[in-house]
Amino acid sequence: MTRFRIAIDGPSGAGKSTVARRVAQRLGYLYIDTGAMYRAVGLKVIREQLPWDQANAIVEAARRARIELIAGPRGLRVFLDGVDVSEAIRTEAVGQAASRVSSIPGVRKILVRAQQDLGRRGRVVMEGRDIGTKVFPEAEVKIFLDASEPTRARRRFTQIRRNRGALDLEGILEEIRQRDRRDRERADSPLVQAQDARYLDTSNQTADEVVEKILKMVRVVEKKSGSG
Ligand code: C5P
Repeated sequence: MTRFRIAIDGPSGAGKSTVARRVAQRLGYLYIDTGAMYRAVGLKVIREQLPWDQANAIVEAARRARIELIAGPRGLRVFLDGVDVSEAIRTEAVGQAASRVSSIPGVRKILVRAQQDLGRRGRVVMEGRDIGTKVFPEAEVKIFLDASEPTRARRRFTQIRRNRGALDLEGILEEIRQRDRRDRERADSPLVQAQDARYLDTSNQTADEVVEKILKMVRVVEKKSGSG
């Protein structure tokens, strides 16, 4: 039985969540959305009205936060301090807050440790920004998913419209750019492709096509390691 860790990184809107969820489903692996964890901390900071310039208080909030990812019939549900926040964390405001808290090293330390615990036993598909570089540098399969800016903005647009009905493609493009810039330029664990990650541009591919490519990679690694 394989116990691989599959790391999927990339910018927002590259299709990580859909692809990671389906790959996990096909393999019977655990799916972990690490962005949801940063979002949960971002939501906590907003709700507790902590000032952005007080990093210590934010790290303290991250330490106090009880974040649980629970797989259920409606997909992965996210609980913050015992309350289901799966929908509340999906707003763009919380996305921006997540991107801000994620640049604080103390917050990253707490969440990375939790992620390493969750994936320790393998059989996991973990998606985020630093999985292949920081959380599991020794992951057996690493993918860096990317897509053109217009494609990523369009995907976010469709997602947001489905959730809430707010419509402004230009605004979404700007928010994506801002968040990506912060993710790529932060000092601690910036978004970069791991050297040994396979780069996949999903702009002109369906999620299922990308899933098939990843499953093929998994089979190749399985064969090489003699565990397939
Ligand atoms: O993936 P998602 O858009 O939900 O992530 C929200 C934010 O959390 C990202 O913009 C990024 O700043 C941060 N994040 C991170 N490291 C991860 C996952 C997410 O810094 N592994």
